[in-house]
Amino acid sequence: MAEKTIFKRIIDKEIPAKIVYEDDHCLAFEDIHPAAPIHLIVIPKREIASVDDVNATDEIVVGHLFTAMRAIAAKLGIQSGYRVVTNCGRDAGQEVMHLHFHMLAGRKFGWPPG
Ligand code: AMP
Repeated sequence: MAEKTIFKRIIDKEIPAKIVYEDDHCLAFEDIHPAAPIHLIVIPKREIASVDDVNATDEIVVGHLFTAMRAIAAKLGIQSGYRVVTNCGRDAGQEVMHLHFHMLAGRKFGWPPG
């Protein structure tokens, strides 16, 4: 059996994380190496490796991540905007092979990204 990803281990509560939001389908927790004053990782509980692995049966759960992010922004009182990023594959710098969105806030962000 394939080894669990670090994010699956967080879902299964095998390792601690600073969880800011959880429901039946998703989890959001603080990134351990924050790149902004607010830097959350938002993940589906279903194991999907990356954007490149999303299929039709995942559409509802992936859409749900976006309504969750909106709820999280409201809960944290983020009013001046936030950035949502997902890295897909090696060239994009994906380190953890469990679909995740970085939710960043609390400062201004440049464009284009590095
Ligand atoms: P990515 O490069 O898009 O795969 O991003 C993975 C992110 O997960 C990085 O920003 C890491 O800092 C973060 N990360 C890795 N392990 C943990 C952990 N145990 N708890 C919280 N964040 C983590």
